[in-house]
Amino acid sequence: MGDVGRFAPSPTGDLHVGNLRTALVSWLVVRSVGGRWRVRMEDLDRVTATRVHEQRQLDDLAALGLVPDGEVVRQSERFERYDAAIASLDERGLVYPCYCSRREIREAIAAPHGEAPEGAYPGTCRELGASGHQQHESAGRRPALRLRSDGTRVTFVDRLLGPVSGVVDDVVLRRNDGVPAYNLTVVVDDAAQGVTEVVRGDDLARSTPRQLHLARLLGLAEPTHLHVPLVLGPDGNRLAKRHGAVTLTQLAGRGVGPDQVLARMAESLGLAGPGESPSLDTMLARFDPATIPREPWRLSPDEFA
Ligand code: GLU
Repeated sequence: MGDVGRFAPSPTGDLHVGNLRTALVSWLVVRSVGGRWRVRMEDLDRVTATRVHEQRQLDDLAALGLVPDGEVVRQSERFERYDAAIASLDERGLVYPCYCSRREIREAIAAPHGEAPEGAYPGTCRELGASGHQQHESAGRRPALRLRSDGTRVTFVDRLLGPVSGVVDDVVLRRNDGVPAYNLTVVVDDAAQGVTEVVRGDDLARSTPRQLHLARLLGLAEPTHLHVPLVLGPDGNRLAKRHGAVTLTQLAGRGVGPDQVLARMAESLGLAGPGESPSLDTMLARFDPATIPREPWRLSPDEFA
């Protein structure tokens, strides 16, 4: 079936240069080997995700020349798939209801516990028992659903970072507002879309052991992973809207066009010399995933001047 990559933004605002650079890398990784590149809208947050944002994100990608193969998939239209996955885990006794609020979890994690990922659930509701459930239910609390994990350690070899290892905690499968959780949906969708190469920001590398564990439990094919170092603002923090002109629209307002943005991204990836504006085809010909810089790209205040 060949290589399939994807970019999976949440349509909650305009993409910034950091998101766009990750999209470019995910496109280069599969297109450089003749594969297909898909876009999936992770639009499950009904409050912040909108079709307007979605269209603007697609327009910005297209302005850089990044056009998805096939239809854009929306998670909001795929609830049955997530429900079926949760049901299949539940049938095997691998799901339990959890009534903890975020605050309760924060308080329970008084000290960092061993090797568990940051913010890992300490297991409060694991053995709640019938009376415990009843107490919460009669107090009108609605449960999230969690995976009953067994502390498995999962190691994967990232194409850029090398071996990455993590202990799988009792990850949320469905939030207490009924919305399926990210770690589940991403696994179900990557498999359903035939994704073979997951390329995304390296802030998500620590979620990958959980996702691989879920894929194995669900009997799904495992993609390879390449986590791209993030883009940092001039102050050294992760790039964000507050850093100023970071979206294509904002940059256009300063007279910086998409071609210039693309050229600077190419340079940051070692695919262009200073002042050079290679075409996407030229970038594809030069691209080698092994040479992606392992350091974050730190924007200077006059980056696009
Ligand atoms: N939707 C996630 C985000 O925008 C990315 C998910 C992924 O690439 O696995 O941060």
